[in-house]
Amino acid sequence: MHQGNEVAPPGVNINVPHSARIYDYWLGGKDNFAVDRAVGEAMIQAIPGMRYMAGENRKFVHRVARDLVAKEGIRQFLDIGTGIPTRPNLHEIAQQLEPSARVVYVDNDPIVLVHARALMVSKPEGRSEYISADLRDAASILEDKVLRDTLRSDEPVGLTLIAILMLLSDSDDPWTLVGALRDAMPSGSCLAITHPTADFAPDEVNQAVDAATGAGMTLVARSQEAVRRFFGDWELLDPGLVPVSSWRPDAPVENPEAAYYWAGVARKP
Ligand code: SAH
Repeated sequence: MHQGNEVAPPGVNINVPHSARIYDYWLGGKDNFAVDRAVGEAMIQAIPGMRYMAGENRKFVHRVARDLVAKEGIRQFLDIGTGIPTRPNLHEIAQQLEPSARVVYVDNDPIVLVHARALMVSKPEGRSEYISADLRDAASILEDKVLRDTLRSDEPVGLTLIAILMLLSDSDDPWTLVGALRDAMPSGSCLAITHPTADFAPDEVNQAVDAATGAGMTLVARSQEAVRRFFGDWELLDPGLVPVSSWRPDAPVENPEAAYYWAGVARKP
């Protein structure tokens, strides 16, 4: 399919904006189309710090991968809503510390599938695999042969839902979906979530949400309490459910509420 001089891979609709490509645009990637850049720009108009937010969200991924391996003993990850590969990817961080770490990536966007090979460059001692599946069908993920071959069913999992749950509407009941994933995880597993919120800057965020939904996307900002419910009865690890920049920062952060995401990690008892 062509739009101007842009060519889309099979299965990719370049007439409808898509979250993975908008996010790629904010991060300075090249895998986005005019329609994605238009919505991405409209959202930047609403939230001037949008690119900073996307960067803070990525830095959280790095800190979480590091800490789950180094402090929680996690050796295998299930990352749902992976996005277009952005270096370093989760498995690269995990394998820096533990070369035998295993990661299963999941996304439902055909453009992510196109790049999946880049995600599967693993250290020989470890594994990195990709499943094309939808979070709304948790069973299809959990029963996938690749997942079963890659993750050991009796070992704790680092389950990462990073900047994905806002793409599910309340009518999808994401709390029940995440609950099904939690139930399938062995004791000692950890769940990491980031989720955009209007709690810090309601006008900016609501305007950005309007820009996205006006273009046909589903995008929901959620309150701290709504995000907390995704963790069920798992125990939130220190420092709790906090603005993404203040989750175990590498250096002191001047204004942690400048990135409008809640972030937290909890462990299954
Ligand atoms: N987790 C990455 C990318 C976030 S962008 C990061 O934080 O850096 C959100 C990703 O979720 C996109 O790649 C999008 O395709 C994917 N996604 C959205 N809805 C999904 C669903 N229902 N099932 C699986 N993946 C989904």
